[in-house]
Amino acid sequence: MKLLARADHSLQAAIWADTLRAAGIRCELRNTALSGALGEIPFLECAPQVWIERDDDEPRAREILLQLRQPMREPHWQCTECNEYSEPQFGSCWQCGSVRPVP
Ligand SMILES: [Zn+2]
Repeated sequence: MKLLARADHSLQAAIWADTLRAAGIRCELRNTALSGALGEIPFLECAPQVWIERDDDEPRAREILLQLRQPMREPHWQCTECNEYSEPQFGSCWQCGSVRPVP
């Protein structure tokens, strides 16, 4: 077993573990039920931890976490014609149909 990473909260740790498992990496969570102890022990000691079972998985696991930490979505973009904001996946303004400006 090897400590891979400390998460900011248990939901994040759960997402990491799910994604790692989906990639075939065996892992487990620790400290996810300790939030009641916050304040009594140093934060890093009670932050949720993700442990991987096999040390060989570490490089791949770190790469997966790195991708998860990057922002998932692009920001909305603003139409130059009508100033309306559109979702990042649209190539033209939903309101007036103007083509998305090139950044
Ligand atoms: Zn527009």
